[in-house]
Amino acid sequence: MVTKKATRGTAKKRTSIKNDLFEQQILAHELPLLPIRNTVLIPNVVTPLMVGREQSIKAIEYAMSRDRLMFVVTQTNEEMEDPGPDDVYTIGVEGVIDRVLKLPDGSTSVLIHGQRRMRRLEYTQQTPFMRVRTEIIQEETERTLTVEALVRAVLALFEKCIKLSSTLPDEAFITAMNIDEPGWLADFIVSSLEAPISVRQEILEAFNVEQRLQKTCILLTKELNILELENHIHTQVQLEVDKGQREYFLREQLKAIQKELGETDPTIREGFELREKILAAGMPEEVKAKALKELDRLNATPSMAPDSGVIRTYLDWIVSLPWSKATIDQLDIKEAHRILEEKHYGLEKVKERILEYIAVRKLSNNMRSPILCFVGPPGVGKTSLGRSIAEALNRKFVRLSLGGVHDEAEIRGHRRTYVGALPGRILQTMKTAGIVNPLFVLDEIDKIGNDYRGDPSAALLEVLDPEQNHAFSDHYLEVPYDLSKVIFLTTANVLHPVPAALRDRLEVIELPGYTEEEKMHIARQFLIPKQMQEHGLKATKVAFEDAALHRIIREYTFEAGVRNLEREIAAVMRKVARKVAEGRRTKTIVTPEKIPDYLGPQKHFYELAEEKMKESAQAALSYARSRAKQLGLENRFYEKYDIHLHLPAGAIPKDGPSAGITMATALISALTQRAARRDVAMTGEITLRGRVLPIGGLKEKVLAAHRAGIKTFILPKRNMKDLNEVPPEIMKDLRFVPVERMDDVIAAALHTLPFAPGEVEKSEHVPTKIKPVKVRRAPAPNPATRSVGTV
Ligand code: ADP
Repeated sequence: MVTKKATRGTAKKRTSIKNDLFEQQILAHELPLLPIRNTVLIPNVVTPLMVGREQSIKAIEYAMSRDRLMFVVTQTNEEMEDPGPDDVYTIGVEGVIDRVLKLPDGSTSVLIHGQRRMRRLEYTQQTPFMRVRTEIIQEETERTLTVEALVRAVLALFEKCIKLSSTLPDEAFITAMNIDEPGWLADFIVSSLEAPISVRQEILEAFNVEQRLQKTCILLTKELNILELENHIHTQVQLEVDKGQREYFLREQLKAIQKELGETDPTIREGFELREKILAAGMPEEVKAKALKELDRLNATPSMAPDSGVIRTYLDWIVSLPWSKATIDQLDIKEAHRILEEKHYGLEKVKERILEYIAVRKLSNNMRSPILCFVGPPGVGKTSLGRSIAEALNRKFVRLSLGGVHDEAEIRGHRRTYVGALPGRILQTMKTAGIVNPLFVLDEIDKIGNDYRGDPSAALLEVLDPEQNHAFSDHYLEVPYDLSKVIFLTTANVLHPVPAALRDRLEVIELPGYTEEEKMHIARQFLIPKQMQEHGLKATKVAFEDAALHRIIREYTFEAGVRNLEREIAAVMRKVARKVAEGRRTKTIVTPEKIPDYLGPQKHFYELAEEKMKESAQAALSYARSRAKQLGLENRFYEKYDIHLHLPAGAIPKDGPSAGITMATALISALTQRAARRDVAMTGEITLRGRVLPIGGLKEKVLAAHRAGIKTFILPKRNMKDLNEVPPEIMKDLRFVPVERMDDVIAAALHTLPFAPGEVEKSEHVPTKIKPVKVRRAPAPNPATRSVGTV
């Protein structure tokens, strides 16, 4: 009904009437009464009022027909619809109607200009509108010092309020400053503040100017407190707007801008996409910060500058490495058992060890489980076991061959300052994996070399060490990379070239190689079905006779594993597949006679294995010197002969001791011109005094000897217990000669007489303390015997 704000700053000074009445204490008037609801009319202030009540309209009409004066008074109860004589305050204001406006909706709006404070004396009429007899209240306006001080205080407070308030206009203060009547000043200020009705009425009823100023002061102080508090809360809220939220907001804006620009500028779009990728990659904070910094550098580098490409490649790498994506482990021992049985024949001990390994992982989250190392010749199933373990654990399988890695940088990468630098092979493989927890096979760890370019095995140690591999450092990446969730497996053909520090980390599981029988089983159960499937052949189209398989194994392969066997079987399958494709309807039976048709002429000769050996000859020579007399050698023979031992390169380094006795035998055979028996193989380490020491890996050596068609096997006596591991079908084909001294070896391996065609061995040359299982004679002499020190 009334808006007080509309009156702000519109105070008008009324002069004449007030001055006329100045001397009179009280002047009585009879005026129509206008009750108002939610405001108090203030002297000297123009207030618009909406009038709806019939009674009020009548009162206004009455006033308009006369001198336009009314007694305007506030209802004591705002809610009252039809106030009676007792429902309004006694003190009100004389108002002059400035203007009356009839509005289209039937209501009336009036502008009332407040004049003097008035008191109601009595009602003279109640209907159709109320009329009252009133008296004008004369105000005390003495300008005491207190009043002066209060005026200043009020002005100062008002100024502050205006400064803090967002609703009070600055002009209100200018108006206030220019009011020279203290009572009016108070009235004006009260009219401009949002004070409640009761407070306004109170000020109206303060006839003493000093009192009125005091009340105004209090009102202003309260108002100021509220404003200050409001301001404080506002700044507080402002501060508490989370920094992240602001950043988020800014970033969203940036995104929108970049998106807009990106539609036309591919460089900006790329930067934008890279940022998205960096934020989505789940990187550790440190890495993310680094990546974002590089991105800023990229954005600040002209796209044609060479640096730009380098940074981009770097960022591409960083976002394509897995940082948090992982698969969930499956640690079901039964399932693992099933998978191992399904994919691998035999290898009972190995499988058992693998299941134990999985069980330990299941029981403890201890990441420090040992690193398994499968050691054995090619094709015995090391890598495929790794694959099966990955399958059993539900882990992704990745593999890195270390064969020929000489340079540390191949493992750890090159610094970015190098042209064309890239991360090392470890991280490249992790990128291929695409997850942080693959099963990672490091193949051929015995083939890494070290030279002037740095030692790759040191880097490898870091990879495999659970204490360090959570922060693996790659030169290219520059930030640490966490490898701790990876399961590492390693493979090696032989163990001794592996640096000792690395070997210490490994739990070695040996796969010595298969017997012919085992190979037959593997071929039947695994290789043939696999190759049949790969060549799209059904069991109705092809079958292998046992004899054919035997022939392939003996004449076309010479290996401890089954890799070449698989290859030859695949070759047969290709030929059969071709015939089927050409229209053959009948089943092809692969017989031994047909094998040369499929695979060409025989590739290996079962009985005549190549001689492969290597060992330090020093001990052998010392032995020969110490036994010169007994052997019938010339004194100081070693000064006379230039002894040259040719050991084919690429086999085993000469610190391998197991060829020691072979060396010595060959040497003595050459010096004494006594031939060595042709079908004898031997293994054992020799001391300077001619004692024979046990060696490792006996089973492999026996299998190799058997493969080579050897009949007699000389071995250190202390290795006899290891024969338990040799399958019985092999045992039955070989004669074993246990020895303790080099003398025994010579006796068992060399013919007694110097070379002579048709020389026949005599059984008494075998020392009596040795009990050979079987004694056979060699048909022809051979200047050197063969060693199974190398496999
Ligand atoms: P390695 O890694 O030791 O060189 P692989 O794992 O590559 O050997 O094996 C060569 C082939 O021989 C694979 O096809 C593999 O499945 C097969 N193989 C080896 N050992 C066995 C076995 N015990 N049972 C079934 N297949 C085998």
